[in-house]
Amino acid sequence: MKILITGISGFVGSHLTDFVLEHFPHIEIHGLIRRRSDIKNIQHRLSSIVLHECDLTDSHSVDAVFRSQSFEKCFHLAGQSHVPTSWIRPIETMNVNANGTMNLLESIRHHNKNCHVLICGSSEEYGLVYEHEVPITEDNPLRPLSPYAVSKVAADFIGHVYFKSYGLHVVRSRAFNHEGVRRPEDFVLAKITKQAVEIQLGRRTCFELGNTDATRDITDVRDIVHAYWLLLEKGEPGEAYNISSGKTYSIQELVEMTAKQAGIPSQIEQNPKFLRPADVPRLLGDCTKMKQLTGWKRRYEIPDTIHDMIENWRSVLTSSLDRSPFVETQAE
Ligand code: GDP
Repeated sequence: MKILITGISGFVGSHLTDFVLEHFPHIEIHGLIRRRSDIKNIQHRLSSIVLHECDLTDSHSVDAVFRSQSFEKCFHLAGQSHVPTSWIRPIETMNVNANGTMNLLESIRHHNKNCHVLICGSSEEYGLVYEHEVPITEDNPLRPLSPYAVSKVAADFIGHVYFKSYGLHVVRSRAFNHEGVRRPEDFVLAKITKQAVEIQLGRRTCFELGNTDATRDITDVRDIVHAYWLLLEKGEPGEAYNISSGKTYSIQELVEMTAKQAGIPSQIEQNPKFLRPADVPRLLGDCTKMKQLTGWKRRYEIPDTIHDMIENWRSVLTSSLDRSPFVETQAE
């Protein structure tokens, strides 16, 4: 079997690659990367995968891939995934996330109609959620609160349109927050765990963050990619599925858990630079629909994830080069 992972060199793409190679070593994995993509996240897998240089915003380049190859499954992970960056670069965010998804679906429609496609969406699509709507099911209204969230709603809905209009096998996922090693430090738990190690090493005195009241439903990325796999095996085409843990933590609680594991004080300084024009205050997902269909169960608890992330930062920050290979260039 031949599968395609768009965004293979990103945080989630690299974990999906690990998952597939560990569980199904006979599967041929192809991935899309852009010309200047940083491939550090998949460096350890380069001999086992096939990479295609392709820019999703360029329809000709996407078409070229599908003219030369056909795939049984496509996991569409590529995109601009950082919410604050979407206010700084809204057009680029829409272009990659929305138009890029349309380019992909167009090429699949013309050249690879039987390919099963997973459009990987986000809980940010739900945006503004009222207290009586929590935990959030797939039927909740989508009230996006950022350009990023709007772009993901567009990708989600266009996936549905290609199912309805052309009968493509498109399954849509809406993953709540996910964390793990290789997460760029633009995201909150990666930042917290990195700062914890910096405090241990005497390189900073306290945590420096934005809004610590926000609460998020967090799942280990290794469980998320397992759910992605199951959804393309068992998901109903046209349907949307939440992926969540059903447990929330405030950012304050994440700091406290991390500080406890690292054996340091949990003092936080709020820096207005990290506050957003609008923030989703609380996200808590209900993924009963996905669990009943696939039998998915989480294997990792958040303290395990925090432990692994601290260990990873320690090795990165104390290595001879003393620089992070996991920092992306996105602005905060
Ligand atoms: P998101 O939920 O997809 O936007 O994932 P993030 O990890 O970027 O942010 C999760 C939550 O942490 C949001 O409510 C942020 O406002 C909050 N937060 C608080 N301080 C920070 C910070 O310094 N950086 C980031 N990225 N988020 C922060």
